[in-house]
Amino acid sequence: MAHSADTMPNVYDAEPIPAEAMAEIERLLGSGDLFRYTAPSDAPVALLEREFADLLGAKYALAVSSCSSALFLSLKALDMPRGARVLIPAFTFAAVPSAIVHADCVPVLVEVAENYRIDIEDFAAKLPGADAVIISHMRGHTSDMDAILDLAEAAGIPVVEDAAHSLGTTWNGRNIGTLGKIGCFSFQSYKMVNAGEGGILVTEDADLAARAIIMSGAYEHNWRKHQALAGACERWQNKLPLFNMRMQNLSAAVIRPQLPELARRVRDGRRNHDLVAARLNNCQWLRVPDALPPEVRAPDSLQFSLQGFTDDEARALEGEAKARGVGVQVFGLNRDNARAFWNWQFLGQPPELPRTRDMLMRACDTRLPARLTPEECSRIAEAIIDAAEAVKAPAQALAG
Ligand SMILES: *Cc1c(COP(=O)(O)O)cnc(C)c1O
Repeated sequence: MAHSADTMPNVYDAEPIPAEAMAEIERLLGSGDLFRYTAPSDAPVALLEREFADLLGAKYALAVSSCSSALFLSLKALDMPRGARVLIPAFTFAAVPSAIVHADCVPVLVEVAENYRIDIEDFAAKLPGADAVIISHMRGHTSDMDAILDLAEAAGIPVVEDAAHSLGTTWNGRNIGTLGKIGCFSFQSYKMVNAGEGGILVTEDADLAARAIIMSGAYEHNWRKHQALAGACERWQNKLPLFNMRMQNLSAAVIRPQLPELARRVRDGRRNHDLVAARLNNCQWLRVPDALPPEVRAPDSLQFSLQGFTDDEARALEGEAKARGVGVQVFGLNRDNARAFWNWQFLGQPPELPRTRDMLMRACDTRLPARLTPEECSRIAEAIIDAAEAVKAPAQALAG
């Protein structure tokens, strides 16, 4: 064994929060001004919305309690009626179908291919009868947005982007999250910007933004503090339910000083990912799918697929990697993995999705934070390759 487990880098710790956050948090705690709508203007949450919209080149942003809240509010803002059918990739996080259920809509799962991206043929086949689409760019793997946007437009239905794991990813040079009608992002700790919890949605559509603002809990005249949208909001005063999914000022104080760090995190995360991917792709047992040509990724984790493994060998790979100090999870092997669609028992009987199921039974998930050094990433790559060879090389020797 090339490396012992105790020399492996810690991949679980978050990056430190920039020091400016502390001064702002102290100021807020000193005044007790934590509610976003107390200050007459320039509350930290309002400033975050402006800065985030500018960063992405979007017109409007609404900060909320989580990406799940943003997805739910998107469906409500789009006025999806009870029972509306919402297409989603079958490879996503359980929170996504859950947000659809929360909005009284019905998730319709679309096949995902070996490269972790939506199977466009199955998408096109399931589009008739659908009322909306939520594209999860799962783990930051971008599906063919040109095809998806064209097909959805031809069908006359809106596309919402779940960009929870795609902050900093571009498609044909445009920011993921700004391609569909609404884009939703997460500030949960395992995403590129960490506030513990939090989310934000962006849109170019003033009316959708206004509806989402009111329903996020801008009760009475609080919507006036979204100055650019006050006219659009006024129409909806008292006409929409208030779901109270607001962000509070402390979260914004933690997020804002991280935004200037995003470019560096994206650059380092991509360097780390591409370094490990190149090493793994030199091993016949492992395969990291390529990005699609229009896509420039912003990875903060690594996914790879086992080639020619049985279920038992895939399980053994998890054990061999763990013994070398690297946590590797095969998405489909664990009975409680929230990213395996057949574990979403709250939806009832799982649909037949053999392509996605086969992919999930061999696709592996590994943490690979942007703060790791290239040297640390090399050790992780070596440990994974060692683990694969420990499982497969004896079998190969026998076969030969
Ligand atoms: C994390 C994540 C979510 C949920 O985000 P929350 O802010 O925790 O609600 C949704 N979709 C994807 C793809 C995610 O990775």
